[in-house]
Formats: sequence, structure tokens, C-alpha cells
Amino acid sequence: MSTYEKRTYRRLTAETVSQYLAATPALAARLGGAPDQWTGRDVADGNLNSVFLVDGPEGSVCVKQALPYVRVAGESWPLDINHAFFEASYSARVAPFVGRLAPELFHFDPEQFVLAMEKLEPHIILRNGLSAGVPYPQAATDVAEYAARAAFHTSDLATPFERKFEDVALFAKNLALQRISVDLVFTDPYIEVWRNKVIPPLGAWAEALRADVNVKSAVARWRPLYLTKAQSLIHGDLHSGSAMVTPDDTRVIDGEFAWFGPSGFDVGDFIAHYVMAWFAKGGHAGEPAAYRARIAADIAAFWSGYERRFLAIWDASDGVGDGFPPSHFADPAGRARLNSLQRAYVAEIFRDALGFAAIKIIRRIIGNAQIADFLVIEGIERRAEAQAAALALARSLLIAPERFRDIADVIAALPRFATAGLDPLATRNG
Ligand code: ADP
Ligand code: MG
Repeated sequence: MSTYEKRTYRRLTAETVSQYLAATPALAARLGGAPDQWTGRDVADGNLNSVFLVDGPEGSVCVKQALPYVRVAGESWPLDINHAFFEASYSARVAPFVGRLAPELFHFDPEQFVLAMEKLEPHIILRNGLSAGVPYPQAATDVAEYAARAAFHTSDLATPFERKFEDVALFAKNLALQRISVDLVFTDPYIEVWRNKVIPPLGAWAEALRADVNVKSAVARWRPLYLTKAQSLIHGDLHSGSAMVTPDDTRVIDGEFAWFGPSGFDVGDFIAHYVMAWFAKGGHAGEPAAYRARIAADIAAFWSGYERRFLAIWDASDGVGDGFPPSHFADPAGRARLNSLQRAYVAEIFRDALGFAAIKIIRRIIGNAQIADFLVIEGIERRAEAQAAALALARSLLIAPERFRDIADVIAALPRFATAGLDPLATRNG
């Protein structure tokens, strides 16, 4: 971590980013030619950072700079700028495990809070592709592979605790973004606060969730889990807006919310956004059935891919972590038991994930950070109906988790909640 110096910090622009790169020989060499042959473009579309893509005669880079405030809100919402350091640290920590499932990080500048990384082209943000109705079956299994590798290798299953606690100590300082996560994800949706953006037809739903002591009790189980279960290094924002894809290549980006937390958080986050894509599509014009079938298949492939890969990586690992000494299970009785212990470990990730998925759905609909999947639906009533359906499923995941034993139960529930409607009492027991 480093100190933000207002005097020396220079906010980059599409015009000045070339000068910045010219002063960094390794990056200049990647671009080739002379700086006046380079072109920079501003592609920032996220909430927090500036992002530029720069092309030279021989190569290109993506430059991401953190700002001392929330970009979409402006300087009135100041933000500790060190999330750039944590994004760089996260990329470096998971790189050996995830390889080409993430862009290569070339450079981190702790004074200008700049990351330079591999430019992804012709990749697009997964959410935009899904929203346009394009299938990306590869993306769901690739993100599952990414999440399984990152979770396994940074956990006590793979890492001696001395190393793990170095990581825990480092990422435990990523506090500014955790404050945003904890407030926006776990707290704000259940109270009335200026940041919440509830569209009028969802007023009754927002009020019902704020008043629902069973829902809030469930949130009160998963919230401390997020804060206390330092199971593995998590990405912290792993949804369809944090993956860039082509039909056969997937890269996970934007690890600035990195944190030591429950492995199921990333899993639930990803599932939540696919579930919302499924509900959102009902509110779009046109025939949603084929699209929904594909999204449902992707949700199943994501979870089964995660489970399969996690167990396979475990089976193939040398067991140097302190959490689960293989020597205890080396005899025939142990070997016979090992499989069921491993399955129980993964089943717990799944249970954790479904609670986080529900909480993520709720925050995206009655909290601050809304998603394009719903925002593109024309007509506020139609949008509200799609969102109400997602809220109804989320509520059920929280108050009746025993109904969702496996991913097939979640997928089977999607059509049941699709017509939940704007009256939160109508599906009270749904
Ligand atoms: P933020 O943290 O502000 O949300 P993101 O990391 O999500 O920023 O990046 C914002 C946008 O920049 C992405 O939606 C994507 O369009 C583009 N982008 C980010 N990283 C890359 C990359 N490595 N290559 C190409 N484009 C990228
Ligand atoms: Mg981000």
C-alpha cells in the first residue's frame, strides 16, 4: 500500500496515457514504434476506475487507474485509492493458478495507482454478450474453472498456514472496498437509505423485505460468514460484468474487491447474475424461452463444473496445506472416507453460495448498484415484474434453504417464481 499524494498524482486521460507509457520502457517496448504512433481510447464503463486501451504498431496494453473517489458518483464520494494495489496483488497471487483465464498483469505503479495489463480484444463483457442474446457456453465452465482453482489453491487445502496468513494479513487491509461491499450488499437493502434505488412499482417488495425478520435473520447468518470465514482468497465481484469473452476464450478481470472470505461468495455471485439474466429476459421483447433454456444450462454447467474441477484438483494435489492432512486418510478406511469428506466440503461451499446468491440478487434490485440486464427492459412495470420474480426466488433461498439441495432445485424454481408479481404477499410461501 502507498500514500496518495495529491501533488504528484496525475489523473490520466486518453491523451496523456501515451506519455505515461512512454516513460515506462517495458510498456513502451510492448507497443513498439514512437509514442506519436500510439492511440489511446477511454473505455471506462465501471463504477470506480479509469480504463484506457492503447495501441501501438507492435502491440497494445490496457491501462487501469484508480481514482480517489467513486468514478460514477464523482468527487463527492471519496474513496481510498489503494484498491489498485489490492487488484494488482490479487492478480499476482492467483496468476500461477488461473493462467490464461485472466489477463496478464504487466505492471503496477504504486504512486499513480496504475495497472497495465494485457489488452483483451476482441473480447466483450460477458453480461453484454448474454444480454444481446448470444450464447457463451464456454464462459460458464471457464469461470467455474477459474473460481475452483483460485479457491482451492489459496485455501488451507493447498497452502501452509504461514503463507495463508501472510495473504490474509495483506488482503485484510482492503478495507475501503469491503466497507462498500458490506454496506451495499449486506446492510443497505434492508434499511431505508439515500443510496438505494428502488423503482416505484417495487416499493411494496422493498418494504416487505425490510420488514421481514426471517429474511434479515438469514442475512445475519451470511453477513458474519463473509466477515469471518477466511476460507480462500475470493475475487469479491465475480459476476458476468467481471468476465470478458469471445466464443472460445474467457478472462476474469477486476479483482479489486479481493478478500479472504468464504469460497462460496464468488460462486453465489456468479450464479446470482445468471439467475437475474434469466428473469430479465422475460421482460425483454421477443421469445425468451430458448434464451432462458441456455442460461439455465449455463447455471447447471457452472456449478457442476466448479464441483468437478474442485474435487479433481484436490485429488491431484500434493496436500501441503495444513487444513486436511492426506496422511490421516492414507489407510484403506481413510481412503474410503476421504471421498465423502471432500464432497461434504464442496457441499458446504454450495450452501454458502446460495445464501450469497440470494443476497446479491436483492442488493442488485433494491440497493445501489443496479445492473444493465434489468435496466434495458423498456417499461417500468415490465422491469419491476422481472425484478420481483428474482426477489421472490431470493427470498425463498434465504428463508427456505432446505428446498434447494442441489443446483437442479434452483433451476427448477426459476419458472415457478417467474410470475411472482408485484405483490410480495402473493408468493409468501412460494
Ligand atoms: P471498474 O473496476 O471500474 O469496474 P473494470 O475492470 O470493470 O473497471 O473495467 C472497465 C471496462 O474496461 C470493462 O468493462 C471493459 O470494457 C474494459 N476493460 C477492462 N479490462 C480490460 C482489458 N484487460 N482489456 C480490454 N478491455 C478491458
Ligand atoms: Mg471494478
